[in-house]
Amino acid sequence: MMQPLLTRLRSQRPDGDIHVLAPAWGAPLLARMAEVAAVIENPFAHGVFDWAGRRALARRVASDGFSAAYVLPNSWKSALIPFLAGIPRRIGYHGEARYVLLNERHRLDESALPRLVDRYAALAGPLEGNTPPPRLSSTPEQQRAARGALGLPETAAPVVFCPGAEYGPAKRWPARHFAALAQKVGAGGTAVWLIGSARDREVGDEIARLADGAALNLCGRTSLEQAIDLIAGARLVVSNDSGLMHVAAALDRPLLALYGSSSPGYTPPLSPRAKVVSLNLDCSPCFKRECPLGHLRCLENLTPEQVLAAIPR
Ligand code: SF4
Repeated sequence: MMQPLLTRLRSQRPDGDIHVLAPAWGAPLLARMAEVAAVIENPFAHGVFDWAGRRALARRVASDGFSAAYVLPNSWKSALIPFLAGIPRRIGYHGEARYVLLNERHRLDESALPRLVDRYAALAGPLEGNTPPPRLSSTPEQQRAARGALGLPETAAPVVFCPGAEYGPAKRWPARHFAALAQKVGAGGTAVWLIGSARDREVGDEIARLADGAALNLCGRTSLEQAIDLIAGARLVVSNDSGLMHVAAALDRPLLALYGSSSPGYTPPLSPRAKVVSLNLDCSPCFKRECPLGHLRCLENLTPEQVLAAIPR
């Protein structure tokens, strides 16, 4: 979501270095972005303040002499490090009344910029034309190494399913539907790999069991780097609206993006090769983690046959 902002900044200042302050888990993704020169680890867990730790990090950031900081989250806490570090230009949306913390505050016009990616990109100045799409790199050597480390065949052109969604069950297509789709897709001998985090291992196991051998559960078995490199070699990705969906889009893979409670208008997959699959019910998007109506028809009623029919031929 934020990479197009980096692309714009890079083209405005080709000689400037971009460093990104981010949690450690994001470092492997940032390492695959050509615009990023370095990652500064943000060690503060959600909800933890740690005043002494923030001052110490600000001192370290100050020693690098940055000329500008772009603050993407809306919280005042996220604007604190650039302020304490004395970075001259501190740019972001007004957010949580960040009067002193930011000195270049933008007013957000939500109707003019419905997509999150455009909101971030507009921090580099008014948008002209289309926002550049995000791009992650993955070399053939990296893809071979990932498959080798996991004991996967080098030559397979798998269909990858990403059945997780950290946000909650209202963004997850049911396991039985993924399993039925795996059986249909795998009937011609195509390998189906399930990729996700350790939290998705259980649902991956369920899909693999219901698919009766048609799907290989790799959820929780890969690092994020390996997940990127496995997805990069996929012939097709079928994903819930999740972080890995955006990874697949940024790797320019053919992609079916399944939407339930969330909105493709706000966080769409940013790739011309992506196709959104959604029932567009009257109640959708509700943006809830769990279905407030208790039936989850937006995903329960989206059948494997409908998803199969959406696969580009
Ligand atoms: S209210 Fe509608 S969109 Fe929201 S989770 Fe339930 S079925 Fe899906």
